[in-house]
Amino acid sequence: MDNRVYLNGEYLPLKDAKISVLDRGFLFGDGVYEVIPSYKGRLFEFEGHIKRLEQSLAEIRIESPCTQEQWRELLLPLIDESFDQYIYLHLTRGVAPKRDHGFPEETEPTVFAMCSNIIPFAGRVSGIKCVTLDDSRWNLCHVKATTLLANVLLRQQALDSDSGEAILLRDGHVTEGAASNLFALIDGVLTTPPLSKDILPGITRELILKIARTNDIAVAEDSISETALKQAEEIWLTSSTREIVPVIELDGQPVKDGKVGKLWHVLNTLFQAYKQQ
Ligand code: PMP
Repeated sequence: MDNRVYLNGEYLPLKDAKISVLDRGFLFGDGVYEVIPSYKGRLFEFEGHIKRLEQSLAEIRIESPCTQEQWRELLLPLIDESFDQYIYLHLTRGVAPKRDHGFPEETEPTVFAMCSNIIPFAGRVSGIKCVTLDDSRWNLCHVKATTLLANVLLRQQALDSDSGEAILLRDGHVTEGAASNLFALIDGVLTTPPLSKDILPGITRELILKIARTNDIAVAEDSISETALKQAEEIWLTSSTREIVPVIELDGQPVKDGKVGKLWHVLNTLFQAYKQQ
C-alpha cells in the first residue's frame, strides 16, 4: 500500500494522517512504540516485538487494544513484500479534554503505524566510531517510551563529534547505546550488560544471545566497566534496523587493531542465515 499509514482504525495517505494538539503523545511524550523489521513481507521476531510492546504498555498503564494476531492483521496491509522494510508502531494515551498531568478518564489510545524501507546502514560492515557519554536518561529505560529527548541529545552529541553512536556509561559501567544494545568480547567471552531498568530489552540482543548459545560461543550477561570496555577485543552495537554494527574506534582510540573483529564475521554470518530462514 503506497505511502499509506494506519491511524486510529483507518488506512490513509501519510499527508492526511493528523492528530489533535491535545494528544498526550504530543503534549507529554506519554506513549510507547515498537520498530519491527519485515523481510520479504514477513515480520521478523514478531512475537518478541509484540510481547515487548505489551510490557511497555503495562508499565505505563495503557491496556493493549489488540491481541498479537490483531496487530498482525492491522500491520500487514502496510507492508510491500518486494522490499526489506520496518514497521513503526506508536501508541499514546490518547486525546484528553485539557492538558493535565494526571491520566484522563475514558480516553482511547491513539494508534499510529507506518512502514518504511530499510536503507542498509553503511557502518554495519565497515564499522563505526563511537564516543562514551554519561547516561543522562531516566531510570525506566526498559520501557520503549516515545519520550526520547535524552537519547536524541546523546545521539546528536555523538554525531557532532563525527561518531556513529554514543555508548552510555552509568556509575562507571556501560548501559547501552543511545539507540542500540552493546556487546563486547572480553577475555574471549561475548559479554552484554544484564537486563535491568537501565537498558531496553533489545530483540536483536536476545536473538544474538540465542544464536551464540546454539553455536557454542561463550556468552555472559554481565556488567561491563568502562576500563573493561576500553580493553575489549571487539565491541558491537545491535538494533533491529542496523542489525550488528562493529565499533572500530572508541573515544579516538582503535578498538584492538581498529579492524572489524573475527567474531563479528562469525555472528553476522549466523545472523544473516537466521534471517533467511
Ligand atoms: N536500546 C535502545 C535505547 C534502542 O532505542 C534500541 C532500538 N533502536 C535498542 C536498544 C535495540 O533494540 P532492538 O534490537 O529491539 O531494535
